[in-house]
Amino acid sequence: MAETRSTCPYCGVGCGVLIQTEGAQITGVRGDPDHPANFGKLCSKGSTLHLTATQSVAEQTRLMHPLQRQRRDAAPEGLSWDSALGTAAERFASIIGQHGPDAVGFYVSGQLLTEDYYVFNKLAKGLIGTNNIDTNSRLCMSSAVAGYKLTLGADAPPACYDDVNHANCLFFVGSNAAWAHPVLFRRIEEARAANPAMKVIVADPRRTDTAEMADLFLPLQPGTDTMLFHGMLHTMLWEGWIDADYIERHTTGFAELKTLVREATPEHTAQICGLRKEDIRQAAQWFAQSGPTLSLYCQGLNQSVNGTAKNAALINLHLATGQIGKPGAGPFSLTGQPNAMGGREVGGLANLLSAHRDLSNPAHRAEVAALWGVESVPAQPGKTAIEMFQAAADGEIKALWIACTNPAQSLPNQSTVRRALERAEYVVVQEAFATTATCAFADLLLPATTWGEKEGTVTNSERRISRVRPAVPPPGNTRHDWQIATQFAQCLEPLLRPGQPTLFPYAKAQDIWNEHRESTRGRDLDITGLSWTMLEDNGPQQWPLKEGAQQGKARLYEDGQFPTPDGRARFSALTWQPVAEPRTARFPFSLNTGRLRDQWHGMSRTGQLGRLFGHVPEPCLQMHPQDMARRALGEGDLVHITSPRGTIIAPVQADDSLALSQLFMALHWGGEYLSGKSSTGERLAGVNTLTNPAFCPLSKQPEFKHTAVKVLKA
Ligand code: SF4
Repeated sequence: MAETRSTCPYCGVGCGVLIQTEGAQITGVRGDPDHPANFGKLCSKGSTLHLTATQSVAEQTRLMHPLQRQRRDAAPEGLSWDSALGTAAERFASIIGQHGPDAVGFYVSGQLLTEDYYVFNKLAKGLIGTNNIDTNSRLCMSSAVAGYKLTLGADAPPACYDDVNHANCLFFVGSNAAWAHPVLFRRIEEARAANPAMKVIVADPRRTDTAEMADLFLPLQPGTDTMLFHGMLHTMLWEGWIDADYIERHTTGFAELKTLVREATPEHTAQICGLRKEDIRQAAQWFAQSGPTLSLYCQGLNQSVNGTAKNAALINLHLATGQIGKPGAGPFSLTGQPNAMGGREVGGLANLLSAHRDLSNPAHRAEVAALWGVESVPAQPGKTAIEMFQAAADGEIKALWIACTNPAQSLPNQSTVRRALERAEYVVVQEAFATTATCAFADLLLPATTWGEKEGTVTNSERRISRVRPAVPPPGNTRHDWQIATQFAQCLEPLLRPGQPTLFPYAKAQDIWNEHRESTRGRDLDITGLSWTMLEDNGPQQWPLKEGAQQGKARLYEDGQFPTPDGRARFSALTWQPVAEPRTARFPFSLNTGRLRDQWHGMSRTGQLGRLFGHVPEPCLQMHPQDMARRALGEGDLVHITSPRGTIIAPVQADDSLALSQLFMALHWGGEYLSGKSSTGERLAGVNTLTNPAFCPLSKQPEFKHTAVKVLKA
């Protein structure tokens, strides 16, 4: 038996794994005892990874050869890689020639490796000349990005996992880490056991498993987080719990914020948030006065039309109390996907450029163009996820390239997504799994490698870069994602810039890493000191790690200097906004969607294992028992759940962790499990038949966390 060091491909904790193999077959997995993210621990998903990589699972699920459809309703037929990539290049070149570069779009994934992401970004922005590249990380982290940049000056989570061992107060907001980040949560439980004085505050509309450990639980109304933070700051000001010296020396904008929160009295905040004013005061006191306070937050803040304001208002609290840049203190966004961070680092989103450069900054655009050896990169921001599919539905985007993600299940308002995929002239789906809903819409299917087969790097929530290593060779006729993007680019280059040398001279993942590494020189995430050899020899490292440094930085802003023009952090005076679609007499329930403990996204991988259905065996709508009684609903009764966009049918289940008028449904179940139809009668599937595509105007992240619905017995 051989063992290969790699990482888990699921959540942003980024656990290290040792993949066990016999010949070309993966036979086992265990936690890497030397990986600083998990020290050998794995959760239920990570510890069963090898069972999702068996021969029989592969035969039932994997896409092994390039396939194309002559017509959308025809069965796909096999073709060679040369033919597949050549055809794709001709179709893209033709559409670009007729309609311009913005007529094509790339929709990629936080599950790609950094090297994959880098090539796709350069392909879209450097070769084709469009910023129409976005990612499913838009659905998960873009509000955190916008919040960090607005206040601290850079998209850089300032804290690290070790901070849970130094904190005296943990503030969980919109995060069910017990389920979504299980190995980190075990570490938190151990830290708390070692420090009984530690206070734990959990703010969440649901009393989740995470809330079970809270000393103070704040069951706030959906979407009112910004108001809660403003109310806490009001109390801190009133009581004199702020750090005036830190504010004076290291920040700007406090006077404006002070004026804004004057109205956020405990009474007013309590009324808006649906909380007791005594609890808001208690939260403010513990946050400000316990000693180091670490905030841990996730989709509850991010997936909101007020997402950027929520993130920024929470960071305001850290700046106002000086709870940042020291052990155990800081705002710490937990990334949902394994490499949402890496995608941000290479600038693989419609509004970013390489190494945290800004698209709107002419000097940054010139730097990236020089790095890539092209005349320019386009200035016009590209279409973000929701905008891209709306533009395809409207006929504006005519070709879509979708890699390692399943928008036909995961994007909100599936009716528009369906229209986009049907109306687009040409759809390429680059995937490891043949079973995703999006595959059904592809003109061309390109088989990609996946966990245990891929090589490159990923970055976890605490800015730690790990090597991903192949334990077995690519199966069938699959290729690595970076290879597919590179070879497509090489086919497209003679059509778009004939006679010029290739911009994509990559023979291996390391070549791409070296180019990316150089692009970070002088930036906040500078990793010019982090060679491939150092990663191999010394293991995972945190950024920044500048040339000459021996190790990266565990935490940022310890010197009180921020990456803003004047070196000071900026308070945000963004205001609280209610949810986009409030409850009404017609749609009287608030539907919240989220993750289960043992499943991952659309279940392409976890859905293959019966044992992972032991925790939650089937999709259901969770509802408070009193709401069920009022509607004469019994346990397991089938109900129609209807939003302004469509209807799905599911069994209902009593759940007193929810407040009255609030519902919860897991996001994982797709077409095989949850049938539905749009408001105009098209057949759809999954909970995203219902969800609202409204998004935060600054981060463009949609509001998955609140949809107004009605529920009727089927
Ligand atoms: Fe994988 Fe996340 Fe579980 Fe770690 S906590 S094993 S990264 S799913």
